[in-house]
Amino acid sequence: MLSVEEARERILARFTPLAAEVVPLPDALGRVLAEDAVARERLPLFANSAMDGYAVRSADAGAASAEQPVRLRLAGEVPAGSVYPGTVGAGEAIRILTGAPLPTGTDAVLQQELTHTGEGWVELLAPAPAGNNVRAAGEDVAAGALLAPLGTELGPAEIALLAACGVHPVRVGRRPRVAILSTGDELAPLGETPKPGQIRESNGPYLVAAVRRAGGEPLRLGIARDREDELREKLAAARGADLILTSGGVSVGDYDLVKQILDEQGTIEFWRVRMRPGKPLAFGTLGDTPLLGLPGNPVSAAVTFELFGRPAIRRMLGAARVERPRVEVVLEGADIARAERRQFVRARLESRGGTLVALTTGAQDSHIITSLRGATALLVIPEGAGLVRSGEHVSALLLNDALPWGGE
Ligand code: AMP
Ligand code: MG
Repeated sequence: MLSVEEARERILARFTPLAAEVVPLPDALGRVLAEDAVARERLPLFANSAMDGYAVRSADAGAASAEQPVRLRLAGEVPAGSVYPGTVGAGEAIRILTGAPLPTGTDAVLQQELTHTGEGWVELLAPAPAGNNVRAAGEDVAAGALLAPLGTELGPAEIALLAACGVHPVRVGRRPRVAILSTGDELAPLGETPKPGQIRESNGPYLVAAVRRAGGEPLRLGIARDREDELREKLAAARGADLILTSGGVSVGDYDLVKQILDEQGTIEFWRVRMRPGKPLAFGTLGDTPLLGLPGNPVSAAVTFELFGRPAIRRMLGAARVERPRVEVVLEGADIARAERRQFVRARLESRGGTLVALTTGAQDSHIITSLRGATALLVIPEGAGLVRSGEHVSALLLNDALPWGGE
């Protein structure tokens, strides 16, 4: 039986970033840069006003005050989106609006709250030192600066920055196509009432959602009965996929089914991992397509997808980091018994006075689907004997990017 690390290494060794494609920037959310994003121009593109007010020469404003205002000739106006055509001379001011380019000859802006105006003149009631209320050209980003390196996942902030610096469209990794097949005679598809002895199938819907959230494109193959010919036939529809995920049919009783097909039409790398939940996990290739055979129990399917399927998808997307962030937390509530296999315990993290506290989500058996609900972390319980007690430190894999909710 392989360790979790060995299994993960052997799986990840099979995946490389997929070919890049060029997409419009607004469609690039969640995609991963296939090349460094470099600013085409500086940002701000030109020196501009941070306020509605008057562009002046700082030397003219001198030591203006409410008691001793400095009166300047109002020589024109420059709204955002236009350029003042002339050069501003000594003793002159230009009405300027936020975002408008600073007129040639001026070097400061005095906000309108600190002025009085009349017909053809403006009085400055305060000094306007050089650079006052001016956003300098390039103060945010220099032309040619690295905005985000290859391998960066694009979020709204990166999309705004790339847009502002002229990077559009953008080269990103193609989304992996992930075929999803549930196996089992007992499975009733979504929307159908289970016949006697059947259960409602949930791994298919789970995996479609989890694949999408991981950045993949799910390809739904439905349900295959526990018959080799049906399994083979349904898997044939996975042609063109970058990864096949099956669930069920890999436990001791019936693992031969998925395994047999891999044997016939591909290769088997391994089919057991020293972990709980999720021991029966098959990995191999069908033709040239990698296949990850997840266990049927819903919690096992979810945890093994999280530990092995998601990183594979992230690798194919081109992400520099394929793992979840790991943090130290303090266990609270029930003690956890160590076992021979490494355990991944679902928990909710809370922040209490600067400490991250983990509360398990209740019963942890692999059929208890509610143990997944509300879980924001997987506690990693090392192999061994004895108890991990409430109050002890444990390592936790964060299941989402959000910070834990505050407690108390
Ligand atoms: P298996 O790995 O096929 O032996 O299945 C193990 C357990 O998971 C059994 O109780 C199955 O009924 C259940 N199971 C298998 N596939 C699914 C599925 N797609 N949705 C929900 N439960 C499933
Ligand atoms: Mg089964």
